[in-house]
Amino acid sequence: MSPRAWAAITLAVLLVAVVVVAALRVPWTAPPAPRGDQLAALDTLPADAVARGRAFHAALRPGTYLSLALGLLVAILLGLTPAGAWIVEQVSRPFGGHWLARALLGGLAVVFVGEIVALPLAAWRQSILRRYGLSTQDWSGWTVDMLKSYAVGAVIGAIALVGFFTVTHFAPRWWWAWGAAGAALLTVLLSFVFPVLVEPVFNKFTPMPEGEQRTRLMAMAQRDGVPVRDVLVADASRRTRAVNAYVSGLGPTRRIVVYDTLLEKAPQEEVESVVAHELGHAKDGDVFTGTLLGAFGAAAAVCALYLLGSWGGLLRRAGVDAIGDPRAVALLIAVATVAGLLAGPAQAFVSRRVEARADRHALQLTGDPAGFEAMQGRLSLVNLGDPDPNPVEQFLFGSHPTAVERMAEARAWARGER
Ligand SMILES: [Zn+2]
Repeated sequence: MSPRAWAAITLAVLLVAVVVVAALRVPWTAPPAPRGDQLAALDTLPADAVARGRAFHAALRPGTYLSLALGLLVAILLGLTPAGAWIVEQVSRPFGGHWLARALLGGLAVVFVGEIVALPLAAWRQSILRRYGLSTQDWSGWTVDMLKSYAVGAVIGAIALVGFFTVTHFAPRWWWAWGAAGAALLTVLLSFVFPVLVEPVFNKFTPMPEGEQRTRLMAMAQRDGVPVRDVLVADASRRTRAVNAYVSGLGPTRRIVVYDTLLEKAPQEEVESVVAHELGHAKDGDVFTGTLLGAFGAAAAVCALYLLGSWGGLLRRAGVDAIGDPRAVALLIAVATVAGLLAGPAQAFVSRRVEARADRHALQLTGDPAGFEAMQGRLSLVNLGDPDPNPVEQFLFGSHPTAVERMAEARAWARGER
């Protein structure tokens, strides 16, 4: 059997694996709480604050859509014309066009062009965050953050580029197999490494100080049967007024992180509701599920790219001979950009289902629907959220149920309907 046939079979197996993992580990059958409850919940929120959240999102909207469109346009202009290949050749010229220079410098240069084009819109967004008082960061702090994220992106990008093109160079017929395994491995590795190596680049994490709050949170985790080594406090206030908490990492790197802004603004029972939601993610292994889906998805993407490589018209457009050629890096990025845009709504849908399950877990664990509803209202107001956004945008981009859906969930739960 030819490498192509094997790649097609592997792709099919990986896609089945994605479907099986999603079917088994994502809760599919959860009807949203009644709309009547949602509207009643919306009525309890101060009207001026809701209007302010909506105005904030209206101000952000043009930039959001423009940056999506511009990102797609740049990816297509570089990837579906010889422009990307030309950039790769130019930056690798001082190194005699060596394949490794093409892979590393050429790849980073093409990515960098996209970043430069996106920069003005990122600055526009930041200016809106500042105008609405959500960001507490001045322009120098923002610039430092951007430089740090470029640096982190360059390191991860360099590993991926050198890894990928080394394999295509030395195994021109079977690179898809090595590449798929490598992509899956890199996804798993990032899941472990990200909280330990990358998150500290942006924030300082300190263990929550001994005291009643910490004792209660640790006791709640114990009651839940979720091993938690620590609850960490992130110094998010240096950047934002937004409140949040999250769980990240797998196994020994798993931790619950609470923003200092949350501890400052929310009463104890609301902090407990937030942490109980995060414990739900830990208990249901949501980070593990996400990593598994990401790893299979990444491996499938490499196989799909290999198969796309026999589409002569596509290669001719990009002015390259083979898709595993470092000069084709812009073409790879263009394909990934289009695929990412198409996969976005599906990812958001899965995420909303998983988040709704963590909400139900929080309600069961705390037995405090009033605290949960108050917390959701506060989260939405402080974060300048739109508690009841446009359904189309929620469908396309919403990673969580809307604030009113989450508040309504608490009401339905309180009536014993959940
Ligand atoms: Zn969550």
